[in-house]
Amino acid sequence: MYIEQWKYIADYHTHTCFSHGRGTVDDNVRAALARGLTTIGIADHGPANWWNVGIKRIADFERLIEEVWRARRRFPEIQILAGVEANIISYDGELDVPEAVQEQLDQVLVGFHTMIIPKSWGDGLRFIRLSLAARLGERRFSEAKRAHTQALIAAIQRYRIFAVTHPGLRIAIDSEALAKVCAMRQTALEINARHGLASPELIRHAAGCGVRFILSSDAHRPEEVGRLEPAEAAARAAGLTVEQIINVRELPEA
Ligand SMILES: [Zn+2]
Ligand SMILES: [Zn+2]
Repeated sequence: MYIEQWKYIADYHTHTCFSHGRGTVDDNVRAALARGLTTIGIADHGPANWWNVGIKRIADFERLIEEVWRARRRFPEIQILAGVEANIISYDGELDVPEAVQEQLDQVLVGFHTMIIPKSWGDGLRFIRLSLAARLGERRFSEAKRAHTQALIAAIQRYRIFAVTHPGLRIAIDSEALAKVCAMRQTALEINARHGLASPELIRHAAGCGVRFILSSDAHRPEEVGRLEPAEAAARAAGLTVEQIINVRELPEA
């Protein structure tokens, strides 16, 4: 049986030392070139992450954008995108990156992270209450899942979001409800090589809604950039085709 070979053309989700990645923008670009990618995305954490995990101040996005421009001059052979992996900080879907900054970036990815500074005490307390209650039985679990899915959906409807990173990681999400809105808004869902949690059912359900996917490394070190094999395995296990994945092409048969 012939099994098509997949070629990775982009890795949109990589971190640098602007957040808590190890490498610089240049380091990630060099790694992407070594892996034969034609596009590399920088998607450092937004400022709401705890313990200096995220970009420190909003003004640092300006430095990040300048750094990307310098890298573009040094490496004209590859497309370099300045971006963010923004956080959801409220139940009405607000992100920790102002819209004016989002507009200056080439890509806005959104991840639902747990260790973040919420917009208000009310949002923070609600998150803690729902997360604790979710352990107390099916009904409470469903309530938490619904509220968190709604927050994510509100963000997707409110902003122009390129992709949702690692959906379902540490926070239960209704993948079908999310995928329907993503399909409508042309927001991609990520299959994350680092966390490897996307189940074939989740991917299949989402694919059935017509959503498209990206495979990402979520690299925190340059040597991880472009390592998409675990994400490819998850995509193949769910029966996805290259047409359903934005950053993959089929290699011609040898
Ligand atoms: Zn993340
Ligand atoms: Zn990440």
